[in-house]
Amino acid sequence: MINVKEAKELIQENCSTLKVVKLPLLEANGSILAEPVYAVMDTPPFHQSAMDGYVFSFENWDKESDLKVIGEIQTGSYSNTIVQPNEAVRIYTGAPIPPGTDTVVMQEKVNREGNALQILDAALVATANVRPQSSQTQKGELALQSGQLLTPVAISFLAGIGINKVSVFSKPTVSIIVTGKELAGADDEISEGKIFESNSIGLIAALQQLGIDPVSVEVVDDVEEEIEKSITNQLSSDILILTGGVSVGDYDLVPASLEKCGVQKIFHKIKQKPGKPFYFGRHNQTLVFALPGNPAAVMSCFYEYVVQAIGSFTQKEYFKKIALPLTEDFNKKAGLTFFLKGKIGDNNVTVLNNQESYKLNSFAVADCLIEFDEEGEYFKKGDLVNLRMIL
Ligand code: AMP
Ligand code: MG
Repeated sequence: MINVKEAKELIQENCSTLKVVKLPLLEANGSILAEPVYAVMDTPPFHQSAMDGYVFSFENWDKESDLKVIGEIQTGSYSNTIVQPNEAVRIYTGAPIPPGTDTVVMQEKVNREGNALQILDAALVATANVRPQSSQTQKGELALQSGQLLTPVAISFLAGIGINKVSVFSKPTVSIIVTGKELAGADDEISEGKIFESNSIGLIAALQQLGIDPVSVEVVDDVEEEIEKSITNQLSSDILILTGGVSVGDYDLVPASLEKCGVQKIFHKIKQKPGKPFYFGRHNQTLVFALPGNPAAVMSCFYEYVVQAIGSFTQKEYFKKIALPLTEDFNKKAGLTFFLKGKIGDNNVTVLNNQESYKLNSFAVADCLIEFDEEGEYFKKGDLVNLRMIL
C-alpha cells in the first residue's frame, strides 16, 4: 500500500492537462491569468481634474488680480476652447482639463463673486489637483502579469483600462457518481434500510466553493451494469468523482466496473485514515477519483486529493497549509497518516471529537484538517502540526 506522499506524487504526475480559455471578465473572476495583459489605451485617457473646483494656467496667472470664470466643463463632456491667461473654467472631478490650463484649485479654497474668482490657497502649486494622462497605465504597458489571480479588484482594474476578455487557465469539467443501494434522495420516503444521500451534496457544495458546477450528478445502485453505464457516460469529463463501493465488500463493485470501462488503475488504497480504500485511475485525459463512501472520508479525500488535481488545471492553490501548536496531547498508532477535523484557535489548533468517518457532526464545524504524519505516535500539547485550512 502506498502512503500519502506517494499518492500525491502519482496524482500530480497524471495531472498534465492545461487548457487556456478566453473569457469575459466576470466569468474569469477567481481564475489565474494564462497570458500577460497589456494596456490598450492610456488611463486616464486625458489630463483629468482630481477635484471639484476651477482650472486655469498657473504659470500665466499674475497672482495679484482675480481670475475670470469663462465657462464650465461637466464630467463626461469636453471643451477645446483655449483658456487664456488669468481666465478660469469651472470644472468637476474626472472632467478633462481644457487646453491652456494645468492646475485646479478646490472650490473650498476660492471666493467667487459673479465671474470674479479669488484664489485663497497659498499652498497651491503648478499642476496641483490634476491627474495626468496615462499616469495609471500607459498604452502598451504591462498591466497584469500572467499567473496573476483575477481578484474582483483586478477585474475592475482591467475593465477600467478597456479590457473585456482575458485568457485564463480553464477549470476542469467534473462529473459525480455516488453509488449505493441504500441511498435515498431528499424527496424520497426513507424506508427500512435506507439513508439520506449526502455525499453528492457535500461534493457539489465544495466544488461550488471553487467556482465549479459539476456537469453531471448521478446516484446509482450497487449493480455492475448500472455503475458501468454511468461511468461510460461520464468519461468525457476532465475529472470523474465516484463515492462508495470501493472497499472489499461483495457489493463494492466500483474498481471492477472502472476496469471494465477501460480505466487504468494508478493506485488503490492509501495508508491513511479516513479514506484508506481510496482509488485513483485514469482514462485517456480523464482523472478518476473513487472515494470510499463514508461521508467524512469523502470530504477529507476531496480536500486532500481532488482539490490538488483541480488546482493543477486552474493553476491555483486553494486551501493553504500552515503549522500551529496543538492545544492537547494526541496519540495514534504508527503506520497511517491521520487527517483529523480541527478547530483553529488563538494561534493554536484543537482536535475535535467525533472523528469516525461515518460522522459529519464535528466536520460540520471544523475549519481545518490536521495532518498527523504516518510514523508519528505521540503528539504533545504545544507540538507544531501541519494543517490545511478548509474555509
Ligand atoms: P461504502 O464505501 O459503499 O462501503 O459506504 C460506506 C458507508 O458510507 C456506508 O455506511 C454507506 O451507507 C455510506 N455512504 C455511501 N455513500 C453515501 C452517500 N452518497 N451519502 C451518505 N452516505 C453514504
Ligand atoms: Mg456501498
